[in-house]
Amino acid sequence: GEVERIDVAVIGAGPAGAVAAALLARAGRSVLVLERQHFPRFSIGESLLPQSMAYLDEAGMLQAVVEAGFQYKNGAFFAYREKTSSFDFRDKHTDGWGTTYQVERAVFDQLLIRRAAEQGAQVRFGHTVRSMETGAAPVLEVADEGGRTYRVAAQFVLDASGFGRVLPRLLGLETPSHMPERAALFSHVRDALPAGSTDRDKICVAVHPERRDVWYWMIPLAGGRTSIGCVAAAEFLDVPEAQREARLRELMGEEPTIARLLGDAPFLMPVNRIAGYSANVERLHGPGFALLGNAGEFLDPVFSSGVTIALRSAHLAAHTLLRQLAGERVDWAADYDGPLRKGIDTFRAFVERWYTGELQDIVFYPNQTPKIRRMISAILAGYAWDETNPYVADPERRLTALHETCMMAPG
Ligand code: FAD
Repeated sequence: GEVERIDVAVIGAGPAGAVAAALLARAGRSVLVLERQHFPRFSIGESLLPQSMAYLDEAGMLQAVVEAGFQYKNGAFFAYREKTSSFDFRDKHTDGWGTTYQVERAVFDQLLIRRAAEQGAQVRFGHTVRSMETGAAPVLEVADEGGRTYRVAAQFVLDASGFGRVLPRLLGLETPSHMPERAALFSHVRDALPAGSTDRDKICVAVHPERRDVWYWMIPLAGGRTSIGCVAAAEFLDVPEAQREARLRELMGEEPTIARLLGDAPFLMPVNRIAGYSANVERLHGPGFALLGNAGEFLDPVFSSGVTIALRSAHLAAHTLLRQLAGERVDWAADYDGPLRKGIDTFRAFVERWYTGELQDIVFYPNQTPKIRRMISAILAGYAWDETNPYVADPERRLTALHETCMMAPG
């Protein structure tokens, strides 16, 4: 049959796909976004980091996000037994946005892709990418819901298919993640938290009092809703579907902060379970394509880094691609893969040490110097690529040294 031609085809209309499509369309390129679902659709990943605001701004989306009335966010609050620790993202080592939002992703994602379309991207919902012929000009095979299939020849393909991981699966690029298999049970509740209280303005991350590898997120959203989730080793949350709600309710009762704030709050949707979400690939690019956001690598939800990494990847890939399409010679390993992984590696060091307990010791240590707190705060705010921050430049060595200091000093 006939083959459609386009400069750039984007697989998936989540945050990574929407921002990449907007940046390319703004620069005058023809862009086609293929999305298998219809929006609005539920997605997990509701707490943004301030670093993401810069990418929303660049993609012409910030005003629409600000005007949407999402829950304001300015930091992270940690709780473990009687210990608490609060980070204000406006007090941080790196310059830039210190506040952001906690969003219902169904609303947020729809708003982003609408802004991409308003800036010239063509978007098709209900269209699923089935296969790709690789080569200098890759060809996608697409199926619509009427069973019709057609082909799209692009100068370049950006895979932003999230956990769909379309190209990693089709091209055999998946590699085992080094993270142990974990799962999350989660839902939304109707909350009774007072509006404007500091509780609403921060994500709350609470550690189970008896098991330091089990933790909860509490993410207040606009309109009296709160997202609640519990993360643990997959087998710890392995209950039949009919018992998920009881299991999550029981776990919520075991942690004092969550129990106090949300103990009896009614669920607004069925309790969901997601497991084995950590994923990795050999490389984030290949001939005629690059992998964005979750289609590439996903670590862990504990520091809410997913959307920020997705938007950073969209920003880096779009600029690399625009140079390539303009006839410049680009090196995807050096211009995209390496720079993106720098920040992912920062988060990885933090995530790994969260689960060993070392980062928890650091977070709850009461006598941290303000300077070091500002460096940690910057990374928690998503500034994981700023190499003037020693915890970005050399996270492994720095965190080991810092942990030793926290354990030696009284406090
Ligand atoms: P997605 O938003 O997943 O979008 C991918 C799109 O591709 C989907 O709409 C899908 O329908 C489409 N698609 C898939 N296959 C095809 C196909 N074959 N053809 C066409 N379209 C296709 N991140 C945060 O920033 N903050 C958090 O608080 C947070 N909490 C999390 C909690 C948990 C338990 C988990 C597992 C993740 C969490 N994340 C969080 C991560 C976050 O969910 C993701 O990082 C983010 O959604 C990735 O965005 P994306 O654009 O890469 O993909």
